[in-house]
Amino acid sequence: MAQAKQPATPTLGIHLSMGGGSQKAIEYAAAMGCKTVQIFTHNPRSFQFKPIVKVETDAINALWKKHGIGPIFSHCNYLINLGTTDNAMFHASLAAAEKELEYARAFGCDYFVLHVGKHKEASLETGMQQVAKAINKLGPAFRKTNVTLLLETVAGQGTEIGRSFEEMAQLIAMFDKEVQPYIGVCLDTCHIFAAGYDIRTKEGVEKVVQNIEMTFGAECIRLIHVNDSKGALGDNLDRHEHLGKGQIGAAGLKAFLTHPKIKGIPMAIETPIDDTAGQEDDFTILQGFFK
Ligand SMILES: [Zn+2]
Ligand SMILES: [Zn+2]
Repeated sequence: MAQAKQPATPTLGIHLSMGGGSQKAIEYAAAMGCKTVQIFTHNPRSFQFKPIVKVETDAINALWKKHGIGPIFSHCNYLINLGTTDNAMFHASLAAAEKELEYARAFGCDYFVLHVGKHKEASLETGMQQVAKAINKLGPAFRKTNVTLLLETVAGQGTEIGRSFEEMAQLIAMFDKEVQPYIGVCLDTCHIFAAGYDIRTKEGVEKVVQNIEMTFGAECIRLIHVNDSKGALGDNLDRHEHLGKGQIGAAGLKAFLTHPKIKGIPMAIETPIDDTAGQEDDFTILQGFFK
């Protein structure tokens, strides 16, 4: 497991869309006061990767440095499914995951956030074995890029793997010793709530943190996706809501995020951008939790 270093002040940020130009995007994040961001390094709905243009990635890296933004997180392509038993899909996903690590490094990301996948018609056990087989094959890519892979906790829609802390810990234990230093967890507040972890109250938060500590441990969590939830507790719906406007609520989110075991972990919002609120509004609420 990767070793976590927790700073004294919270490292807060957003999922940053770079679609409209990376310089404009990074300046927008810096002006908002972001200390960290999550990005897509390529089109997340395609297995096609445009070639890396070194002058462009050099400029992006210089901007992160100039604005003091870091760590940077890369979020995976939505097509990747390492839990599949379909041979062609498994190999396409593995090749894409390897590319993702290379692109993360080029774009200045120390971490790559992965939804491990779905086991579909195969058993959960078989799906987990497929994931472990894939991750173990990434050893050379981890050593080459020095990018840490973060397994994201999921809402548990359909046959998604990683819906409980126990399942995540069990999966991590299946990885080879040589890849363990490159593995961590990304915890999403909406997803864990949808998966049945009640963080609406201080008492609930205490139980959930205890559960984390009994499984993979809070020191494994390297990023928190901060989202409220449109869906109810345990209904497995992955639908993000503006902070304080969903089923978790501001008090629960604040109690969880400011918990002594959690508060030092980098956090990024992935809230919707719609006519009721934008990223600035949710980011201001997030900052407010720490004042
Ligand atoms: Zn995600
Ligand atoms: Zn989500």
